[in-house]
Amino acid sequence: MNQKHPKGLPILFFTEMWERFSFYGMRAILVLYLTKETMGENPGMGWSNTDALVLYGWYTMLVYVFSIPGGIIADRWLGQKKTVFLGGLLIAAGQLTLVVDSLATFYTGLMLIISGVGCLKPNISTMVGGLYKAGDPRRDAGFTIFYIGINIGAAAAPLIVGYIGEVYGWHYGFGLAGIGMLLGQGVYLWGQKFLKEVGNFIPMEKVEGSKTNKPLTKIEKDRVIVLLISFVIVIVFWGAYEQAGGLMNIYTKEKINRMVFGFEIPASLFQSVPAFFVIIFGTAVASFWLKRNKLGKETSSLFKMAIGIMVMGTGFLMMSGATLEAADGGKAMLIWLILSYLLQVIGELSLSPVALSFITKLAPVKYASIMMGIYFAATGLGNKLAGLVGEFAQSAGEFEVFTGIFIFCLLFGLLLLLFFKKLKELTHGAEEVSA
Ligand code: GLN
Repeated sequence: MNQKHPKGLPILFFTEMWERFSFYGMRAILVLYLTKETMGENPGMGWSNTDALVLYGWYTMLVYVFSIPGGIIADRWLGQKKTVFLGGLLIAAGQLTLVVDSLATFYTGLMLIISGVGCLKPNISTMVGGLYKAGDPRRDAGFTIFYIGINIGAAAAPLIVGYIGEVYGWHYGFGLAGIGMLLGQGVYLWGQKFLKEVGNFIPMEKVEGSKTNKPLTKIEKDRVIVLLISFVIVIVFWGAYEQAGGLMNIYTKEKINRMVFGFEIPASLFQSVPAFFVIIFGTAVASFWLKRNKLGKETSSLFKMAIGIMVMGTGFLMMSGATLEAADGGKAMLIWLILSYLLQVIGELSLSPVALSFITKLAPVKYASIMMGIYFAATGLGNKLAGLVGEFAQSAGEFEVFTGIFIFCLLFGLLLLLFFKKLKELTHGAEEVSA
């Protein structure tokens, strides 16, 4: 991890950190704002819980699904670098539109943010890959560092934007998220000198080894197939993991004993815990895999993803433990929740940054951005799936759902371990590192 990285990496790190600050800040207060009554201090929209959760579900899905048009814009017209800038502008415009208190500005603001994240998020991730040549052994570590940046933004935002939004006024919270994004744009503009070589538009006819309409080679096709299969893994992963904002959040509020030294920690604060764990354990997990690699043991991305999904799933077994403890109507110990998030994050670190890096290794150059777009769209579907699973828990019971997630993830991971060698063959050595 302590190798030198390209100068462009800190620029992309800080830009994405501020974008995530803006995104997670908004996410932290959206449902609270929607459900707050329309009268009294700091009024909200007065929606029912159900209506608010439905909008929340659509919003968190669409921000990622719009990565597909974002990827197409980059591949066809603008290149990734300019599309990221356009995305940042749209997000900042969206957040600042939300500062104005009206239904029309509310929906306009959300649409602007959705389009903006769609332009920015996949393309900035592809640019990280672009900083490294094929076979560069620093690529995975680069993505882990980038992922830590994401989570610094994600950890700080619910605390800062959440506090300002709830205490001083929702619209100040939205404004602050907008200012965060503008800071990100500032970093990005300033750092252009370090990004000269990366994310530029390449006209189709200039893409290495291709003529305009030349079909993909057999190797490229195989690689696209593996990528598409890995997107199924991603849907399952985020479908389980993204319980954090919904079911786990409500469970924490209602059934976890949050008293520490005589002080009751608000449930919303726990939303920052996974992001803090990513920051703390990010390099350790990456180093663990690197060490294994040096020992000549299996460390292909697909293998890591299989292990990641099983470890993350085990986190839900901790929640089953909590439900058993609270079965008599009492509250469960906090340690269950903390252990659950810890295992979920260790799993996340073996899958999420790895998947980003994997896509940049496998995607054919002319589809580089769109493949990343489809990846994020898959995470969007995962988010929606998570909402449905969370809703199901209301009728099926929490113990059943938490345990069900654990068993499903375990079996899914085992199935992947059974087939990963076959899938690896389809990558045609794209992961071989030329040190
Ligand atoms: N937590 C990561 C981020 O915010 C991953 C999100 C996702 O892929 N759904 O970038």
